[in-house]
Amino acid sequence: MNKKASALLKENSLFSYPVDVKKLAKKLKVIVSSEDLEDKVSGFLAVDDDNATIVVNSNHHENRKRFTMAHELGHFVLHKGKMPLFLDTNLKFYRSAVHSEHSAEIEMEANAFAAELLMPKLLIEKIIETYDLDITDEYDIYQLSKKLKVSEQALTIRLVKLELIFPF
Ligand SMILES: [Zn+2]
Repeated sequence: MNKKASALLKENSLFSYPVDVKKLAKKLKVIVSSEDLEDKVSGFLAVDDDNATIVVNSNHHENRKRFTMAHELGHFVLHKGKMPLFLDTNLKFYRSAVHSEHSAEIEMEANAFAAELLMPKLLIEKIIETYDLDITDEYDIYQLSKKLKVSEQALTIRLVKLELIFPF
């Protein structure tokens, strides 16, 4: 598990919720925009010598755009030397079987980065404590997902991964 995402949040004083992904991108000098892309495209990262640009699909739900942005930032932080363009189609944030233009491994790494960036363990624990949430309760998971501005699905997977809840 990489701890890079949490470290970046700390370094940039962005360790609060919901995590301000756009601000982190700005700090990393990555340009972010939202465009009318084909529905199957979640977004992409384009890198050249001087610039890095992330484009997310403007037609997608806010939470999904946040996840895509975080995922592309993951490519920027972890993989930017590898290729000039990372194109993500039908981005699945929880499976290794990703339909995309590049290898499953770097996809998994970018997803792990995104999950950690949007849902850091410490922030999850803090919210649970502050609001006295019971994350075995569906409604409380919904509350937590609202605070973090992530989908309940992404959050549930994260909670399982952190062993805070157990799948049946
Ligand atoms: Zn990707």
